[in-house]
Amino acid sequence: MRKRILIVEDEPAIRDMIAFALRKAEYEPVHAGDAREALAQIADRAPDLILLDWMLPGTSGLELARRWRREGITRDVPIIMLTARGEENDRVSGLDAGVDDYMVKPFSARELMARIRAVMRRTHEETGEGTVEAGSLRIDVAAHRVFAGNDPIQIGPTEYRLLHFFMTHPERVYSRSQLLDSVWGGNVYVEERTVDVHIRRLRKTLEPHGAEALVQTVRGSGYRFSTSV
Ligand code: CA
Repeated sequence: MRKRILIVEDEPAIRDMIAFALRKAEYEPVHAGDAREALAQIADRAPDLILLDWMLPGTSGLELARRWRREGITRDVPIIMLTARGEENDRVSGLDAGVDDYMVKPFSARELMARIRAVMRRTHEETGEGTVEAGSLRIDVAAHRVFAGNDPIQIGPTEYRLLHFFMTHPERVYSRSQLLDSVWGGNVYVEERTVDVHIRRLRKTLEPHGAEALVQTVRGSGYRFSTSV
């Protein structure tokens, strides 16, 4: 079955360019011009990926991303934010809101397709069966669920991949660029600062379960997952 991609974009020229490229790459594009239309599109069925414009009439893309990350049906749907803004702060607030990647306009269709494939691969990749355990944490790999003891943990898709990587590679220091290669995939352009953003979110996710200290900062080197303090 073709993967369904929701384009939330109010500029017809950009929307048409993206839809054309998506069809050519054998995806099924659906379109929304604003938040209301986007929510209507998602009400029946979650798409496989969302391309989300930042500047929309009414509710902004950023607010939509935040909302979707909180809701069950869209929590794990990868989001690529499209924006004309390039400032660092906007990029960071987008990542904080839980978007998986970020594209600054203008971009080529080819560049966008490469980014979509990378995000899809990361998100849908089967990481293997079974259970990974470390400290109080347990990942049910097949179900894509994380537990602290018996408590399920609500976790974003990037944080899940990061935690899975850490738990399968414990007690070793990884630099930001090593984490980018291993967790984000080497051929995707993401700034090293992105790692810090997601480490922060991962700790915030683990904090209510008393497990945030497992993710340790190693000054000048990077990060380590360790069950010993
Ligand atoms: Ca716009």
